[in-house]
Amino acid sequence: MKPAEQQKLLADVESFCQELRPIEELCYAEHQYNDQLIPLARKHDLLGMTIPVEYGGRGADTVTYLKALARIGREGTGCRTFFSGQISIGSYPIMTWGSDALQRKYLPAAVKGEKILAFGLTEPDAGSNPLEMTSTFRREGDHYVLNGVKYLISNGGIADAVIVFAYPESSAEDAPRRISAFVLDTDQPGFTAETLTAKMGMPTSNTAMFEMSEAKVPLENLLGEPDDGFRIAMGTLVSGRLSVAAGCLGVIEDCLIESVNYAKERSQHGKPIAKHQLVQEHIAMIEMARVTSDAILMRAAEVKEASKSGDRELLRQADILAAQAKFHITNAAWEAADRAVQVFGGRGWSTLYRPGRHLMDVRVCRIYEGTDEILKLKIAASVLGKEFEAFK
Ligand SMILES: Cc1cc2nc3c(=O)[nH]c(=O)nc-3n(C[C@H](O)[C@H](O)[C@H](O)COP(=O)(O)OP(=O)(O)OC[C@H]3O[C@@H](n4cnc5c(N)ncnc54)[C@H](O)[C@@H]3O)c2cc1C
Repeated sequence: MKPAEQQKLLADVESFCQELRPIEELCYAEHQYNDQLIPLARKHDLLGMTIPVEYGGRGADTVTYLKALARIGREGTGCRTFFSGQISIGSYPIMTWGSDALQRKYLPAAVKGEKILAFGLTEPDAGSNPLEMTSTFRREGDHYVLNGVKYLISNGGIADAVIVFAYPESSAEDAPRRISAFVLDTDQPGFTAETLTAKMGMPTSNTAMFEMSEAKVPLENLLGEPDDGFRIAMGTLVSGRLSVAAGCLGVIEDCLIESVNYAKERSQHGKPIAKHQLVQEHIAMIEMARVTSDAILMRAAEVKEASKSGDRELLRQADILAAQAKFHITNAAWEAADRAVQVFGGRGWSTLYRPGRHLMDVRVCRIYEGTDEILKLKIAASVLGKEFEAFK
């Protein structure tokens, strides 16, 4: 992406965020889904940030896109999660493994907001280990038929199409069962979604479970080759993890801005609390979280971009760096939000102020797209060697 295009995109993101903030704050206070987010993102042409220009997108490279997500993350983890669902784990697998026809079918519509996307891997009994999923598919004439339940899916209740994963209903006795990946249209009788509302945070974004009951998928909506599903899911998670890490960098940045402003304005014991050394410690630690997270994210972004060449070693490095970035930055954001709450004192504990909202929202980032534990095991295996992998 040329520097002028990058600047324009980031300026559009800035305008979007400024317009979004009052609406998002109101929705948060009322514990309501923000139905203005998608029209606003459409207005600022942000729904297809990474989609190639030939399909109407902005063609952003990884570094530019993650900078955009970091800015959006300052507004909240809920609105950033929408973009992760739409772009990083929604349009990404179509862009990476979809046929030309599939890309033409979904990507221009995704850019225009006519197709909202989601990624359905998790099931009630298959989270950290997706291989334990029970969703199935069979081929019938010119389409596949899918059955199963997907759980805790971002955008799952508002999506027009979902990337879904399933095992073949039956396979030859001695043949190993392997997962395949599909793009499933939701406007069909075989698809029913239920929005999940009993959430600790992110009230303004959609999280849902859905059931596929004899749901139909045209043959051309298979992603990659049959049996490629696990590889596609893991490859998509690299993109998704970077998006979570970028959003959490934004959370840290917002915690810093809020803490600095508040500490300068609030006086106790005859001086601004910013002059108390223990409050300064919080500011220093949030600043260090910002600096280290930014460096780790940008390194991971550069390698992810370089790995588009298909070089196997770069792909391996991009995978590990994304896991490291996600693990480090989500935990740093959690701590930064906690420190910002502390700087705000009693007000910090209220959801009327931004630090408390960040704390509630950002907690999920240590769970979705790979829990802390799963990422630690992955990072350890990368150092110890494959023979020490804790699980296969
Ligand atoms: C708000 C939200 C949005 C989400 N969005 C999506 C989405 O868009 N698409 C999607 O597919 N999924 C999504 N998820 C699901 C998410 O990815 C899973 O919740 C996550 O992968 C963990 O799975 P689980 O909840 O089943 O926990 P489990 O896998 O049951 O894990 C429970 C605990 O056991 C630990 N554990 C499990 N296995 C091991 C092991 N081998 N070693 C050590 N510890 C282990 C875990 O780390 C965790 O601490 C979302 C979840 C939430 C909460």
